[in-house]
Amino acid sequence: MAGGTTILVGIGASPGIAIGRCWPVDRRKVRTPKRRLGPDEVEPELGRFRTALELSEAQLAEVRHKVAEAEGGSAGDHTAIIDMHRMMLKDEMLVLEVQKLVREERINAEWAVKRVVRKIKGAFSDAADEYFKERRADVDFVGERIIKNLLGQQVDVEEPPPEGAIVVAHDLAPADTALLLHERKVGALVTDAGAQTSHTAIVARALEVPAVVAVGRITTLADKGDWIIVDGARGVVIINPTAGERADYEVARERFLEHERELLRTRDLPAATEDGVTLRMAGNIEFAEEVPSLLNHGGEAVGLYRTEFLYLQREQLPTEEEHYQDARRILEALAPRPVTIRTFDLGGDKLPAGLRAHAENPALGLRAIRYCLRQPEMFRAQLRGLLRASVHGNLRIMFPMISGVAELRAARRVLLEVREELKREGQDLPLPPVGIMIELPSAAVIADRLALEADFFSIGTNDLIQYTIGIDRQNKEVAYLYKPLHLAVLRMLKNVCDAGRAAGIPVSMCGEMAGEPLYALVLLGLGLTELSMNGPSIPLVKRIIRAARADDGRLLLERLLALTAGDDIEREVKHEMSRRFGGLLEHDAQVGPVSG
Ligand code: PEP
Ligand code: MG
Repeated sequence: MAGGTTILVGIGASPGIAIGRCWPVDRRKVRTPKRRLGPDEVEPELGRFRTALELSEAQLAEVRHKVAEAEGGSAGDHTAIIDMHRMMLKDEMLVLEVQKLVREERINAEWAVKRVVRKIKGAFSDAADEYFKERRADVDFVGERIIKNLLGQQVDVEEPPPEGAIVVAHDLAPADTALLLHERKVGALVTDAGAQTSHTAIVARALEVPAVVAVGRITTLADKGDWIIVDGARGVVIINPTAGERADYEVARERFLEHERELLRTRDLPAATEDGVTLRMAGNIEFAEEVPSLLNHGGEAVGLYRTEFLYLQREQLPTEEEHYQDARRILEALAPRPVTIRTFDLGGDKLPAGLRAHAENPALGLRAIRYCLRQPEMFRAQLRGLLRASVHGNLRIMFPMISGVAELRAARRVLLEVREELKREGQDLPLPPVGIMIELPSAAVIADRLALEADFFSIGTNDLIQYTIGIDRQNKEVAYLYKPLHLAVLRMLKNVCDAGRAAGIPVSMCGEMAGEPLYALVLLGLGLTELSMNGPSIPLVKRIIRAARADDGRLLLERLLALTAGDDIEREVKHEMSRRFGGLLEHDAQVGPVSG
């Protein structure tokens, strides 16, 4: 673009600072021609459609091959997405419907594809849920590929971007993202569309490439070759920065990288306090592909594997065999370190369209363990797969959203039945430790009783705070009430940790609160035995713990519990943390200079 600097703000989807030249990837929507066919044109049109499908399949097979090669031959997250698109090409709902429209309404294939795509997308409903937005995007990507092939247009990213380029696009198809990130190390990704849970964001985070999504109009404002600064932590994009801004960000990037390198140098040291308390530092993962990044950041275990992502990426329930293979892959990569696999946290809106029932309050409805107990076949397939995989590593099974002892007992009963069944089939497997998420106030309040029947606890603060304070965690309007240091939350956390200690079972925390450096001393004071967070958060939290004393944490917690207002508690924590660990925290808070 000509002239001045433009500063845009989107969603920081993957942290890090990149400065590079704009490399636009044209993903603009293709214009669909509309035409009525003469009676003789119907058969040739069906032939054109068949050829376009075959061509699309061949292109996706080629992309898959390249990606699998880059991934060392393993079937990963990216290949799974590409396979899903290949399945869509064969889907009867798509193929038969298009053929029907061409035959019965005598319209050209491009038009028919467009209409069918719209209909399929409609089936994914208008739910605001990010996951379903993504599925609608998948249908679009596939439809667009077929239409472009019908029109003889370029389909895949033509020329790979040069190393360090800032890839700018309206949106990126999973196949594009996978190829862009695997073939060469791009500097960053910036897209007009997207969300925290979009494929671009997830894959960028897993591969540690800075990314900002939902910028809105980057494609209209940046031209090929423009200098762009991307601050992936804060979601800031600067087009044509001034010399001063560039210099500032160069310094900030160096500081950030040096800080990262410095933190990584000590990533393998244990999280042991000065007074001899050691916490296990674990990682939260959604895909097996995140394991290398977790280990590179000094992760000592998987504290939470959100298995529902296995299903949310596709429309068929994973089979027992798929559960087995997936769990085995992660267990083997971590062995002998522990891997806590959470059974499906599905339900409410977190389901493919066909299975969703309307519910006014999905967060309070049939979800997680309630849903699994209602779908015994689905639950059993997962438990059978997990038990069979347990011989390949150090597995712990965890049930989500347990509200009381009855649910825990019911879930455990299914697990025991499945184990007996496998035994009858000739596989006598030991029962792995069985724990529960503490993420409902009811569970937190009766933690002493639950502790007698669970082998471990893991506190899910994301939901615990939502349900305790009564605020929808997706709703921006009430986000200001989302306070991990609310006295009610602190009391619950203390109750859960005390109950775990009294019963002699380990207590972990796997909600976002666990990875926030500011809370490290409070968490030490609570006496948690494990913290589980995103891989990249581990080194800094470890560093703070190593510089801390658990005794100081206990004293701080005591002082906090004597206060009343959340603001006072927060102020006290900030004051204490900056007094003790000022240098370490400052760096975390100020990734780049605040410009513009
Ligand atoms: C939580 O609720 O804190 C948690 C870790 O689970 P999820 O974020 O998957 O609901
Ligand atoms: Mg939860």
